[in-house]
Amino acid sequence: MPSLANFSETMTILPDDVANNTNNVVNWTPSHSSTLYKVDGWGAPYFAVNDNGNVTVKPHGDRTMVHQDIDLLKVVKKASDSKADGGLGLGFPIIVRFPDVLKDRLECLQTAFNYAVKSNGFNSHYQGVYPVKCNQDRFVVEDVVKFGSGFRFGLEAGSKPELLLAMSSLCKGSSESLLICNGFKDSEYISLALIARKLKLNTVIVLEQEEELDLVIDMSVKLGVRPVVGVRAKLRTKHSGHFGSTSGEKGKFGLTTTQIIRVVKKLDQCGMLDCFQLLHFHIGSQIPTTGLLADGVREASQIYCELVRLGADMKVIDIGGGLGIDYDGSKSSNGDVSVEYGLEEYAMAVVQAVKFVCDRNNVKHPVICSESGRAIVSHHSVLIFEAVSSSKYTVPAMSAFDVQHFVERLPEDAHSDYANLSQSAVKGDYEGCLLYAEQLKERCVGMFKDGSLDIEQLASVDGLCDLVAKAIGVANPVSTYHVNLSVFTSVPDFWGIQQVFPILPIHRLDECPAKRGILSDLTCDSDGKIDKFIGGESSLPLHELEGANGMKYYLGMFLGGAYEEALGGVHNLFGGPSVVRVSQSDGPFGFAVTRAVPGPSCSDVLRVMQHEPEIMFETLKHRIEEYVHDEGNIGGAMIAGGIAQSFHNMPYLTVGSSCGLTAAIGNNNGSCGMTAVNGNNGYYYCSSDEDFVAGADAVCEDEPWSYVCA
Ligand SMILES: *Cc1c(COP(=O)(O)O)cnc(C)c1O
Repeated sequence: MPSLANFSETMTILPDDVANNTNNVVNWTPSHSSTLYKVDGWGAPYFAVNDNGNVTVKPHGDRTMVHQDIDLLKVVKKASDSKADGGLGLGFPIIVRFPDVLKDRLECLQTAFNYAVKSNGFNSHYQGVYPVKCNQDRFVVEDVVKFGSGFRFGLEAGSKPELLLAMSSLCKGSSESLLICNGFKDSEYISLALIARKLKLNTVIVLEQEEELDLVIDMSVKLGVRPVVGVRAKLRTKHSGHFGSTSGEKGKFGLTTTQIIRVVKKLDQCGMLDCFQLLHFHIGSQIPTTGLLADGVREASQIYCELVRLGADMKVIDIGGGLGIDYDGSKSSNGDVSVEYGLEEYAMAVVQAVKFVCDRNNVKHPVICSESGRAIVSHHSVLIFEAVSSSKYTVPAMSAFDVQHFVERLPEDAHSDYANLSQSAVKGDYEGCLLYAEQLKERCVGMFKDGSLDIEQLASVDGLCDLVAKAIGVANPVSTYHVNLSVFTSVPDFWGIQQVFPILPIHRLDECPAKRGILSDLTCDSDGKIDKFIGGESSLPLHELEGANGMKYYLGMFLGGAYEEALGGVHNLFGGPSVVRVSQSDGPFGFAVTRAVPGPSCSDVLRVMQHEPEIMFETLKHRIEEYVHDEGNIGGAMIAGGIAQSFHNMPYLTVGSSCGLTAAIGNNNGSCGMTAVNGNNGYYYCSSDEDFVAGADAVCEDEPWSYVCA
C-alpha cells in the first residue's frame, strides 16, 4: 500500500504578490514589512517602519525632521515597564496619544482650505469646528481648542453634556470660534446654548427639527438673548455608503424645504429673520468621492442663496462632517474603508462648488465651516495590545511510521477508505484524496460513537486528514492569536459595523512573519475576535510568539482615534485602556510623556453596573473571618489584601507578573485592608496616586518622564 507520509508539508503564508517579491525570506528587511502591511498607504506621513524594524511615529507629519522620529516600542516600554524599572507601570491595553499629530492634522486641514480659498479667488474664509462626539476626551478637546485658536477653530456639540464641555473649553479659544449646537434639543439644551451666547461664545443653534424653533423664540425672549439660528437641511443628494443612511429626503435629521420656508416665515413674523445666519447639512461620514461631495455642496449652496433671497442674514455654510480617512491605503471609493481624495482635493471641491453657486446667484461668499471629526482625530492615537498566546497545532503530526501504525490498527470497515485515499494520492487526484479522507473520518467518528474505536485512533484520523490537506495545499494554516484586549471596548466598530483598521506588530518588522493569524480577544463571546483586515484579508501575517529573549509581542491598531473610545462598552467587564500622551521633545530627549492615566480598575467597571466594591469587599472579609483560620501559611489578612488588590487592578491580563493574591502575599505586612495594600500599584481606594499626579503636572515644564533615546 503506498504511503502518504512523504506528502509535502509546505504551506503558503504570504500573499502571492509579497511572496514573489521576497523569495528569499532570509533577506527580509523592514521595508518588506512596510510593503506587506501597506504602512505607506494608510500611515503616511505619520507612521513608518524604521531600520530597527519598529514602527516609528513622525509627530509633525511631512515636516518631521529625521531626529524627531519617535520609536513606538520605546514609548510602549516606558509606559508599561514597572516603576522599579523606570517605567510608568501602566497595564495593557494602552492608548498612546500624539498631540503633535493632532496639531498637524488641524493645520493641514486649515492650510488645504486656505490654499483653495486663495487659488480660487474666494472672498471669504474657512473656519472649521471639531465635532466632539468623535472623541470627547478632555485633553483631545482642549488640544483642538488650543491648536486651533489661531485660525478660529471651534467645536460642535450634539447633546447637553457635549455642549457643557464645549462651552467650558471654548472659554480658552478664539472669541470668533464657532460653537455649533446640533442634535435633538429640549428647552434646557436651548437655554444652555442661549446662555453660551450671553457668555460671548459664538454660539449657533442649528434647528434639527421644526419644533425647536418655538422653544428658541420663547427662551430667547425669556433670557433676553438674541440668538443666532441655523437650520440643518435635508438634502436630496444621497450618500449610499454605510455612513450615508442619514442622508437623503428620508434621512433621520434635518428640515425639508417646506419646513425651511416655514422657519423663515415664522422668524420674519417675530422680527427675528436677521437671526437666521447659518445653513448646515451632513450627508454622512466617509463621503467616498469629491463628485458626491460637490453635488451635495452645490445643492446646499443653492438653498443658501435662496435663503439670502428670502431675507435671512446668511453668513455661514456648514458642510457637516464626511471628510474621509483612507483606512486601507488604497485611495479608492469602493466600500467604507477608503476614500479617493485627500485634504487638498476635498477643500478644493468644496470651495469651488460654493463659489460657483454663489457667483451664479450674485450672493456674497459665505464663511465655509466643516465639522470634520474623523479626519482630525483618527491618526493621533494608537492602541497597543499584547498577543499573549497563539493556538498550537492540536492535531498530532504524523510520520510515515505513525501512518503505518494507524492503518494497522484500523478496523476492517475502514480499510477500503484508506485504500481509496492512497490510490487517489498516487494518481495525483486531489479531489479524490479530500473526498476519501473525509469519508474515512466520518466512518471513524461513527465507530468512536459506537465504542469500536479508541480515542488515540480518533486523534490520529485528524492528524491524517490534516496531513492530506497540507500536502494538497488546502490546509488552513491560520492560527488564533489571543490578545489582551476586548473588541467590544476598544474596537466596537469592528464588532458593530465590520469596520477594519490597520493592525500590525509594532516591532520585529525586520523579521519575516512566518505565520498568519486572526486575533481573538479576552471576552467569552464568539464575536470577540478580529478576522477581517485591510486589503480584504481574513488573516494577518504575524510572527511566531516566542521572539528573541522571550520578548513580548506588541500589536498596534492605528487610525482609531475617532469614535472607538466613546462607543466602547464594558462587555465581560473589561473597561477602557490606559492612556499616555506623548510629545516630541528636542534636546537630549526623544519624547516626553506628558500624562499617564491607568485604565479603569475592576472596581471602576463594577461600579458602572451599580455594584459597590466597598460592600463587596466587606462581605468577602466577613467570609474570610468565618472560614480562614490562621493555621496555614496564608493568613486571612493576606487573603483580604490579595482580594483588595484585585479590586484595584485593571481587568485585563497581567502577563508575566504575579496575580493580586500572590503579590499581596509577597508584599503585604498582613495588616492591610481596603486602604493598605502595598506594592507597586498604589493604594486601593485612592482615586489617584498623589505623587504621580504631582509628577505628571510637572512634566509639562520639566519633562521628568522624558525618555532618553539610546
Ligand atoms: C458625526 C457627525 C460629524 C462628524 O463626521 P465625520 O465624518 O467624523 O467628520 C459632523 N457633523 C454631524 C452632524 C455629525 O453627526
